[in-house]
Parts: sequence; C-alpha cells; structure tokens
Amino acid sequence: MRFNKSNITDPKHNKTRKILKIIGPIVLGIGIIFFLIGIIDFFSAFNGMGTPTLFWACFVGIVFIGIGSTLTGFGFMKNVGGYVASQSAPILSDTVNYVADNISDSIADTANKVKKCSSKTCPKCGAINDENDKFCSNCGTPLTKKCPKCQNENNIDSKFCSNCGEKLD
Ligand SMILES: [Zn+2]
Ligand SMILES: [Zn+2]
Repeated sequence: MRFNKSNITDPKHNKTRKILKIIGPIVLGIGIIFFLIGIIDFFSAFNGMGTPTLFWACFVGIVFIGIGSTLTGFGFMKNVGGYVASQSAPILSDTVNYVADNISDSIADTANKVKKCSSKTCPKCGAINDENDKFCSNCGTPLTKKCPKCQNENNIDSKFCSNCGEKLD
C-alpha cells in the first residue's frame, strides 16, 4: 500500500475538515456572542445597573473564540496550506533563480575582473589577450614595446622601460 497523495485527499479527512469548517465558525460565533454579552453586561453594570453578573460570559467567550478559531484554522489549513504552497512555490523558485543568477553573475563578474587584471587589452581592436601574449590574438597588433636601448620587452602602455628606465614612445 502506498501512502502518497491519495492519503491526503482521503474522503475521511475531507469530511473531518468539512465538519471543522462548519463547527469552527459556529464555536467562534458563539464565543463572540458570549464575549459581547459579558462586555455589554460589564459596561451596563459600570453605568450603575448593579454588579456585573454575566462577566463570566466574557471568559467563556474568549475560550470559545480560542477553540473556534483553532478549529477553523484546522478546517481551512489544507486550503490555506495548498494556497500558500501553490503561490509561494513559483515565488520561491523565482527567488532561488534570482539569487542563483545574481551569484553566477557576480562570480562571472569577479572572474572577468580577475582575468582583466592578468590580461592585456589590445590598443587597436580592444580584444583581451593573455598577459604573456606579445601580439594580439585577434588583429596581430604588437602588445609589447621593445626598449630601443636594452631590447627589453615592455608593456604596450609603459612610458619607461621597466629594465633600464629609458623613455619609451
Ligand atoms: Zn587587436
Ligand atoms: Zn630598456
């Protein structure tokens, strides 16, 4: 025997829920009536009509309201739960996707930044080349400047030779 969805939609369960859906609000209603009787009695007693004799109804009302709202809650729980689940599931997956997208975006962004740090942008075509590349892999433009004095290969945007300090043009 399998205990899956068929167990949740058990007709017995539905019957119980139906009863709870009816009894819950009734108990809740009785509670409110008792509560109001108690309150009205209390206030009329306050206005000089003697001592509040029905004030206990207030407490009975509170108890009934508590039980009634609990029963109503149980009766509607499946509906509420189902509603919440069906409503929140797409939101949740959207959120997860959104977060995942953002994370992967920021990872890609960071990776690009790291890559940029150790890469050379071609001054002619803008292609990103490896730091050690001597010529642009896209257009063949030299990415290094040879020092006229010591023949040291400097970065294309260097102003002075990193080996001998000769001014580069
Ligand atoms: Zn290039
Ligand atoms: Zn040099």
